[in-house]
Amino acid sequence: MHHLIIFGPQGSGKGTQAQRLAERLGLINIGAGDILREIATEDTPRGRQINEIVNERGELVPDGMINEIFAQRLGTIPPNVGFILDGWPRNIVQAEHLKRTLQRLSRMAPPPTFIYLEAPMPELLERLRKRHEREKRADDTPDTIARRLKLYEDETRPILEKVTDWAHVITINGNQPVAAVTEDIQAAL
Ligand code: AMP
Repeated sequence: MHHLIIFGPQGSGKGTQAQRLAERLGLINIGAGDILREIATEDTPRGRQINEIVNERGELVPDGMINEIFAQRLGTIPPNVGFILDGWPRNIVQAEHLKRTLQRLSRMAPPPTFIYLEAPMPELLERLRKRHEREKRADDTPDTIARRLKLYEDETRPILEKVTDWAHVITINGNQPVAAVTEDIQAAL
């Protein structure tokens, strides 16, 4: 049984690895960005609000909104099925909510594992530039990328030091071919 959180800066390969691990280990994969980009296409007040925050400003949506989405989705996973979370938590408040949600759902055994994908800044920037050409994601423009990477440094990375009393953290070299990263993760797990 695996309770996993894929973790790292934009461009570190979280989405790719989450997908591969979900397939190999039979996990439910819940991706924050995918869920939010989907809601952002809705022609509703909530859809327009999220579109502006996610696609135009590259900022974080309100904690309450994303916490509720994840708590609800986690609650639908059968107890005998593991999961991998991609893009949540992204700040300390969200990390605290994750802990409380897992406690409430009796999913603290085994304790969750944060898989921290490390890669050097020039490599991240190059991957994001290529993704922008390939996928035309609205939030991969140079300005927005810079803002998102700073937000990661200021608010997301500090999570790792705060969770060590209730979660495992494994650090993986994300600066290698996709298959090698997956192998390293599986070996570490
Ligand atoms: P991602 O695809 O994970 O890079 O997420 C894309 C965008 O969705 C982010 O830049 C944020 O605007 C928003 N987002 C994703 N996850 C979260 C989160 N946990 N909390 C707040 N906003 C988020």
